[in-house]
Amino acid sequence: MANKDYYEILGIDKKASADEIKSAYRRLAKKYHPDLNKDDKGAAEKFKEINEAYEILGDEKKRANYDQYGNAEGQPNFGDFFGNHGGFSGGFSEGFGGFGDIFNDLFGAFGGRTSRTIERGEDIDVQINLSFDESAFGTYKEITIPKVEKCSDCKGTGAQNGKEFSTCSTCRGKGRVRYTQQTIFGTSIQEGPCKDCNGTGKIIKEKCSACSGKGYKKITRSVKVKIPAGIDNGQTITMRGEGNAPFREGVNGDLRIHIKVSPHKVLVRDGFDLHLELYIPFTLALLGGKVVIPTLNGEYNLDIKELTQSGTIMRLKGKGIKMLNRDSYGDLIVTVKIESPKAIDKKSKLLLKEIEQQIPNQNYIKYESYLKKINKP
Ligand SMILES: [Zn+2]
Ligand SMILES: [Zn+2]
Repeated sequence: MANKDYYEILGIDKKASADEIKSAYRRLAKKYHPDLNKDDKGAAEKFKEINEAYEILGDEKKRANYDQYGNAEGQPNFGDFFGNHGGFSGGFSEGFGGFGDIFNDLFGAFGGRTSRTIERGEDIDVQINLSFDESAFGTYKEITIPKVEKCSDCKGTGAQNGKEFSTCSTCRGKGRVRYTQQTIFGTSIQEGPCKDCNGTGKIIKEKCSACSGKGYKKITRSVKVKIPAGIDNGQTITMRGEGNAPFREGVNGDLRIHIKVSPHKVLVRDGFDLHLELYIPFTLALLGGKVVIPTLNGEYNLDIKELTQSGTIMRLKGKGIKMLNRDSYGDLIVTVKIESPKAIDKKSKLLLKEIEQQIPNQNYIKYESYLKKINKP
């Protein structure tokens, strides 16, 4: 899916508004819908592409990632860090869940396409603040979240002991009913969930006393979150199924943990590399010497060679950030900048005058070549 131009697929400008994207999608999805193009095999492919494009561009966050990184994730693939019930976010939502109303709105119009949807609890979003070192080395964080949890007494059914039910007479226990609907394509017979029993096919005879028949409880729960070494500011850890329980039977939402990392006092992170813009006195650059620089593993004595030029880049291999789920590290990249003093006394000035006389212009390669180019040698 990388390198596809989703804007081109939807035939819109890169600056298109959310509404423009939505309407371009609707127009094309109708045009290329496989049900309306049974003889055209290309249409199905096109339809798939359109959906793929909309899944990204129709979502503000994914679109921003796509614009910046060329993919919806906006980050490298982390693999299954959390074992069975966890992982990093960024993938596509299951099925067409993410389409919400537009999907129902559009595809509800095509008869016979309704499928039983599983109710899903709401996702919970929390933010965790990390120090720079915590993000680099990883840690554990305990967070407390208010959440909706399935009532254990009635197993989420809302009926006493989970079994005081009678069969719904409206749908005769099927949970679904048929009805006709006028659409832009004519009359269609639709099937939908039974409103009398919320699609369960059952009517509660006696309400669960623990949750008053709601099937869920509001609780506060603490969750221990493993923060992997190398996580970056703005990334998200998703713990599948740790979100809210649905109000009826179904699956839990996810717990999404948004990571905020405090900046380091001097080091700047870029991917797994660290950058340091190091200003040194011009005399140190000329004479050479040592400068202490901070690294993640303590201080390091950086060797400044004699006659170091401004802009010199020094790469300290492996002194960067640990890569997620890998046993390798980025680098620490030092860019040396030469600083002139903000003031000098008379004696220094005299000494410098002497030095100025002493060093011929041809010892300055770039300066001399510049003078030559402008004919002022
Ligand atoms: Zn209950
Ligand atoms: Zn019913």
